[in-house]
Amino acid sequence: MKILTGIPAAPGIVSGKALLFPDDNPEIPRYAITMDQAGAELVRFAEAVRAAAEELRNFKQGMGREQEAIFDAHLLMVEDPDFHYQIKARLESNYENIEWIVFEVARDLSRKLTQSSSAYLRERAADVSDVSRRIVNRLLGIERFSLANLREDVILVARNLLPSDALSMDRRHVRALVMEAGSRLSHTAILVRAFGIPSVMGVSAAMREIAEGTSLLVDGGTGRVILEPNETTLEHYGEKQAEEERGAQQLSPMRELDAQTVDGRRVRLLANIEIPEEAGNLDRYGAEGVGLYRSEFLFLSGRQSSEDQQYEAYRRVVEALAGKPVTIRTIDIGGDKIIPGMQTGEENPLLGWRAIRFSLSLPETFKTQLRAILRASACGPVRIMFPMISGIEELETSLALLEEAKAECRKSGRAFDETIQAGSMIEVPSAVMTADILAEKSDFFSIGTNDLIQYTIAADRGNKKVSSLAQPSHPAVLRSIKQVIDAAKRRGIPAAMCGELAGESSAAALLLGMGLEEYSMSAPSIPAVKRVLRSVSAASCEALVYNALSATHCGQVQEALTVWHRENLPGLDVSGFTTEKPADDYGV
Ligand code: PEP
Ligand code: MG
Repeated sequence: MKILTGIPAAPGIVSGKALLFPDDNPEIPRYAITMDQAGAELVRFAEAVRAAAEELRNFKQGMGREQEAIFDAHLLMVEDPDFHYQIKARLESNYENIEWIVFEVARDLSRKLTQSSSAYLRERAADVSDVSRRIVNRLLGIERFSLANLREDVILVARNLLPSDALSMDRRHVRALVMEAGSRLSHTAILVRAFGIPSVMGVSAAMREIAEGTSLLVDGGTGRVILEPNETTLEHYGEKQAEEERGAQQLSPMRELDAQTVDGRRVRLLANIEIPEEAGNLDRYGAEGVGLYRSEFLFLSGRQSSEDQQYEAYRRVVEALAGKPVTIRTIDIGGDKIIPGMQTGEENPLLGWRAIRFSLSLPETFKTQLRAILRASACGPVRIMFPMISGIEELETSLALLEEAKAECRKSGRAFDETIQAGSMIEVPSAVMTADILAEKSDFFSIGTNDLIQYTIAADRGNKKVSSLAQPSHPAVLRSIKQVIDAAKRRGIPAAMCGELAGESSAAALLLGMGLEEYSMSAPSIPAVKRVLRSVSAASCEALVYNALSATHCGQVQEALTVWHRENLPGLDVSGFTTEKPADDYGV
């Protein structure tokens, strides 16, 4: 029995057999070949194309019509004579190995398509890259299997599962996830938490230590992965699991109760969702609406959505919420959320072409989304939210495009809510420092602590080597949050939070004391946060704010929280913020 530890990313205890997910982005070797070897390289290419085409034909069977069309398009591309001609021409001018040539030709083609003004052609970029990856994998002898067609329950073990992989995998069969990369705030972690899949991230040795079919026990709450657990261990964890389930049951009456302190301060608790299917499940937890709908996940599977397709997805969510508000965030693509085929070649994607910057550079694509959101607002209460606003100019341009989208809807006779609200996400330090200016033109603020922490402390949220630095208890983070809430209050607009911190029961009292009015979180966290808020008084929370803001070190803030919770909530198991330990293996 061996134990690996990592970052607890999604709670729950599960046992099962390991399935290793091969690295889908292998290093592509590059080497020179002689003129004489060119013919043999072309034969290898033809063989890889044949195998890739056969794979696609097999995939097609048993698929729905929409997926079939995708595979048909990929088949056409795999066998496209023009593509083959370009490969041959490049090979005969560069004399390099064929894997590299395929990769390079596809990369150039995909870049050109990404920059096209036609939405149709931009969409093809994803296909080119998918197809080339399939051929290159064949050339390298890597079997690519699809997580969408799992036949039995597995515990997925991966080096780095991308958000798009998590989105397309067959969730009925993935019982747990163990990953080498990632941290609690990475988007894959956010997705698996939303799907309720127990997960441990940052397990550096996972792919080395775990063999296919190994019996595993995963405790997502503590970040433990036990290999070949014995009977006693399984029994112990079985009891622990039953206890956790009892705890969750005890919280279920919270669903019916208001989120109100003992001295009458009422706040709202809403849910974060990533895919429309989640919307039907929110009542179970007593969500008062959706405070963050991460609309980019519609695009991450590689398909560009038309206005009508987007409208359908948004309308589904709005209708499922039956009159409760839905906050749709415009796409936050870039950083670790890459659309297949989107090769931007950026050295620092997290500081690059991301979120509102991406949307503003493609105004027609942006307005298509805005029109779809506006149309959904005719079906129930909807708010629009702009991600990663870094200054007033971006907000003004976004609002101007929103006005254009409204005019286009009016012109085409599409109904929408004329009083729709548009808010700014506050997630970069420049937005914090100019919160008073942004408040003038925002209908509300929502603090995105995941990014705010990463950008304030300059610690990549997906990099386990620095994730222990990314502490919400850092005085700079606490001061920023307070400053944003104060700016909202001065201007009389609501202050919300939709970063993961909003769902930490240990942060609930502190945030209430700072004046937060709306918390948006992964829905299963709502009952525990509500229990804390219903057990405290607003006045005592304000005293906690004073103590926490006077602290100079993260540890002191943690201590202040632990002491306060012990004194004010003696019966509840709530202490300091969840913090990440330094990585145990820096790979050097
Ligand atoms: C955030 O940054 O806190 C946030 C809610 O947005 P995302 O996690 O999608 O970047
Ligand atoms: Mg963010």
